[in-house]
Amino acid sequence: MQQITTIVGTQWGDEGKGKITDYLARNFDYVVRFHGGNNAGHTVVANGQTYKLHLLPSGVLSPGTVSVIGNGVVIDPKVLLGEISEFKKTNSVPYLKISERAHVIMPYHLPMDGGLGSGQGQLAAGSTGRGIAPVYADKAYRHGIRIGDLIDPELFKEKLEKSYTFNTQILNKIYRLPFDRTIEDIYQEYLQYGRELVPFIADTELELYQAYAMGKSILFEGAQGMSLDPDHGMYPHGTSSNNVAGYAEVGSGVGLNCKSQIIGIMKAYVSRVGQSPFITKLNDANADYIREKGMEYGTTTGRARRIGWLDLVQVRQAVRTSGLSEIAMTKLDVLGGLKELKICMGYEIDGQITAEMPASLSKIRRAKPVYQTMLGWEDTSATTYETLPSNMRQYIEFVEKKINCRISFISLGPERERTIIR
Ligand code: IMP
Repeated sequence: MQQITTIVGTQWGDEGKGKITDYLARNFDYVVRFHGGNNAGHTVVANGQTYKLHLLPSGVLSPGTVSVIGNGVVIDPKVLLGEISEFKKTNSVPYLKISERAHVIMPYHLPMDGGLGSGQGQLAAGSTGRGIAPVYADKAYRHGIRIGDLIDPELFKEKLEKSYTFNTQILNKIYRLPFDRTIEDIYQEYLQYGRELVPFIADTELELYQAYAMGKSILFEGAQGMSLDPDHGMYPHGTSSNNVAGYAEVGSGVGLNCKSQIIGIMKAYVSRVGQSPFITKLNDANADYIREKGMEYGTTTGRARRIGWLDLVQVRQAVRTSGLSEIAMTKLDVLGGLKELKICMGYEIDGQITAEMPASLSKIRRAKPVYQTMLGWEDTSATTYETLPSNMRQYIEFVEKKINCRISFISLGPERERTIIR
């Protein structure tokens, strides 16, 4: 392991990042979330128990590791406090630090998300409805509220007036959505959240910098995935924070001046919840088989995920934009039992074949997958690479050659033990 390791999703999120982060977390002094909010959902199985984490970094499950919610994350304090109290039912208080600079999801951001989505028609992202786009927009508008403001009553009042007025006017006048919470009511509720979060609030940017300078190890835990990135993904069908590995520095405040390990998490097939073109989408019995066996229902919303074959155009873009040093391939076990599998090698657009992701949404809408067919394998309980079914090994080795990035972790189930290091 390098001193600095970053984990990012290479597809549309839900690749199994939580499991790999949890698997590696014990070797690190710090685990840091650097973007996104409770739109993310990580399912981690540890010590025979299943945890569904939305805001808490997966590091909370490793005793001795400090978990950090960095400045680039957006926090719904009610959700975070709920998650902390749920966690405390079976564990001690999480070893958690929250950046003062992280922005706060306010109650008006949730209906704003609904208003935005309904106005965007075909171009909507199919948001999780957690207020993510409105809170990041407020940050860019420069009237956002930060976690540190919740413990500074005077400043909080001043900022809340600006943010409340702006948001409620849009809600009432543009979206014609009722919003009956008063400023005073929100002010009191959020001051109370501030009081409850005080023990965790810190200058995490400085602490991480000092830890880095002292040689402590840091694992950056990405949320979502490549194609949801607002710059490089399938815009506008994505989320509102950058998902590529480079954003770890922005969203944690640590300028890195060293070689780091960047692990892309790639599921052996693709799933996509929400709305967007989906070039390798399956409409047959294979989709139902994979959805049920892989439990492909949203951790955050419970929505059934659409299922498709592995898309190497998408993964190639992730290798490039995140500078991946290696890949962890997850959920290969789910494909066990299928006679044949397909891998998307490129897109055919207007009679031309391309191996790289176009920027143009209209080209993406017209793209047709060009497939390579591979032979399937049966379920396996193998624990070493050499004893995996040979068709599975061929699948892995074929993929890594075509994306030019080594697949060094193989995950064959949700448990920590079902991981092979190659
Ligand atoms: P938002 O981030 O809630 O606004 O949602 C925007 C798009 O990103 C929607 O299509 C969501 O389904 C998708 N999305 C956001 N977070 C995740 C995630 O953690 N996994 C998978 N999809 C996500």
